[in-house]
Amino acid sequence: MIVEDPHDVTYDPPHSVTLTESTDVTMEPSSPIHKISTCIVYENCLLELFEIFQAMQLQLYKYTTFRRLARSFIKPAIVYRWKTMQDATLEQLSQQQNVILGGDMRADSPGHSAKYGSYTMVDLRNNMIIDLQLVKSNEVGGSYHMEMEGLKRSLALLEERGVTLDSIVTDRHPQIQTFLKETRIKHYYDVWHTEKVLGLSKKLVLISKNKDCDILKKWLQSIKNHMYWTAASSTSGPERVAKWTSILNHIRDVHTHEDPAFPQCLHAPRTSRDKSKWLKAGTEAFCKLEKALTNKRILKDVEKMSPHHQTSSLEAFHRVILRFAPKWSFLFLECCADSTLLPCTSMKMLGVPKQHHQLVSCYTE
Ligand SMILES: [Zn+2]
Repeated sequence: MIVEDPHDVTYDPPHSVTLTESTDVTMEPSSPIHKISTCIVYENCLLELFEIFQAMQLQLYKYTTFRRLARSFIKPAIVYRWKTMQDATLEQLSQQQNVILGGDMRADSPGHSAKYGSYTMVDLRNNMIIDLQLVKSNEVGGSYHMEMEGLKRSLALLEERGVTLDSIVTDRHPQIQTFLKETRIKHYYDVWHTEKVLGLSKKLVLISKNKDCDILKKWLQSIKNHMYWTAASSTSGPERVAKWTSILNHIRDVHTHEDPAFPQCLHAPRTSRDKSKWLKAGTEAFCKLEKALTNKRILKDVEKMSPHHQTSSLEAFHRVILRFAPKWSFLFLECCADSTLLPCTSMKMLGVPKQHHQLVSCYTE
């Protein structure tokens, strides 16, 4: 349900006026033919403003004054709005069966030096943020454990509110793999994260730079697409592996496969105009490609790739958060709380097309 909401950045009240280049600022207020758009001032913009004023030796109230006012007036409004929305969303979800969730952590700095992290949980069917947990690294014995703790807290809240899960899609964080295995929650890997962590594209680009492997350049995009298609079109782990490895036949112009889980390509039989693109078994290019696509780690991850939903909307949400709470401005947890919740309340739905990487046909050439 989309309701006009004063907290929404896109909300434009009927009585507002917008200033344009031709605006006559001296006009009588009784004839408001122009509109002033509602806007949100990002805290990092204010911080820059404080620095500029200081450099110019101009008087301005102190940053601590801004924080005090924000704490007294802005924060309670944001927290109230967020809690009200969250309660309603969780109530709705508790009446549904088999909710599919996506989860990911955003930390204030990369690597092991992060002090704070916010774990976001999204309902992937509706693309709605449903929970956000803030974790401090010294609460959990180091930044490495923050993601695990954020997920645990989020799942505990969902259980308390009676939300039943079908599955959860995350990156391939080792602690989370083990934890979800123990709790018997169906766990899938996000394809983008999997591909990124495995570094497959980079690896193949590197191989294709080899003089005898130049032919692989024609297949780089197809192999990447094939990974998303494999995830989206399969219903079981063995089927995913069978489809994934079938590409080693396809690139040799062989379209029937030994594995019964995927006995033949789904594309229509066709004669290719560019016969030079087909690889030959036993060549250096083919052997290197085969080794890269079928190593144990890749096959293990391919087996667990998410079949229905990906967490690209979470990535988009984290990019939005950066505008409200830039990584360097995690000054203290309280500051982090309201600047991270603000986008949650103002962005009920993220404009990210779901499954935008997933393909409708088998191979692209
Ligand atoms: Zn084929």
